[in-house]
Amino acid sequence: MIIQFEQDIKDAQKEAIINRVKGLKYKPTEVKTQKGDYLVGTGKKDFDIRSIGSMDGIKDIHIVSDDFKLVSRKWKVNPTIIDLGDGIVIEEGGFQIMAGPCSIEGEDQIRKTIAHLKEQGITIMRGGVYKPRSSPYSFRGLGIEGLRLWYELAKEAGMKIITEVMQVSQIAEMDPYVDIYQVGARNTQNFNLLDELGKNTDKPVMIKRGISGTIDELLSSAEYVFSGGNERLLLCERGIRTYEKATRNTMDLNAVAVLKEKTHLPVIADPSHGIGIRNHVEAIALASIMAGADGVIFESHEKPEEAYSDGQQTLNFAESNRLIDRMRKTFELRKSF
Ligand code: PEP
Ligand code: MN
Repeated sequence: MIIQFEQDIKDAQKEAIINRVKGLKYKPTEVKTQKGDYLVGTGKKDFDIRSIGSMDGIKDIHIVSDDFKLVSRKWKVNPTIIDLGDGIVIEEGGFQIMAGPCSIEGEDQIRKTIAHLKEQGITIMRGGVYKPRSSPYSFRGLGIEGLRLWYELAKEAGMKIITEVMQVSQIAEMDPYVDIYQVGARNTQNFNLLDELGKNTDKPVMIKRGISGTIDELLSSAEYVFSGGNERLLLCERGIRTYEKATRNTMDLNAVAVLKEKTHLPVIADPSHGIGIRNHVEAIALASIMAGADGVIFESHEKPEEAYSDGQQTLNFAESNRLIDRMRKTFELRKSF
């Protein structure tokens, strides 16, 4: 069950509610986020919701039997809106594009990417400064210095930043320079990291689906961050590992449709990692929009063949312009249904 407390609930009222929940043999967990004060009860026994719902201090109560609760649409029907400030929002019914290189490589590359995105009216730039690489000998990112430089240039241009955080110790130093944290596919079940992103930042967090993770596991990962205290969350389908070898991953468009039903959080599609082949990124991006994605994140670089990472799935600026144009048209088509 999920109980949302009234804003001005008194300590005695809260205690009475917690005791009633315990009396039902449910385990109560208090959750305080930027937006609300909740009690999550986990247990098995059937009970009459009115026996608790009528108590003083309760704004709302719902029974959610799934493992993930706070991120479930069964509880919160209204979709979550991620407001980044300066009129930039990610929300159901809208369509946001985030683009940029796999890795931040230096000033020249940042400037060129910003100019390219601005020309297209894109206001969220992606890029990694901490890169999870399969080989320790591959480029692993410019680190915090790279992020600071990027931030200065992005801020000047009115551009928001989404970038990956790989470990708990990076959160504090990254926080002033990040607009959205990305949790990468290799870290989707790094529960310490998820806990800390719940407790130690108010910035939005986009959680990518684990390489071999199920949809429910992704939702449970989001539940970690939410129950830690941060409800500004987005989910990202980026392809999963299957027996198929012809593509880097198998983009699970089913997940986009299913997630939109299961959760109130915005769902973003990453066709670049989803298929991993430049020539097919567009098809998968457009299909993701039709499947219901609230946004697309893709990799773009002036010279993909020279990119420090993921060049094989990265679009050059001309390809990127075409994709952006077609995505916008596809979104208009979806809206017309
Ligand atoms: C990335 O966005 O460049 C990245 C490493 O993504 P993923 O975690 O989905 O592999
Ligand atoms: Mn990449």
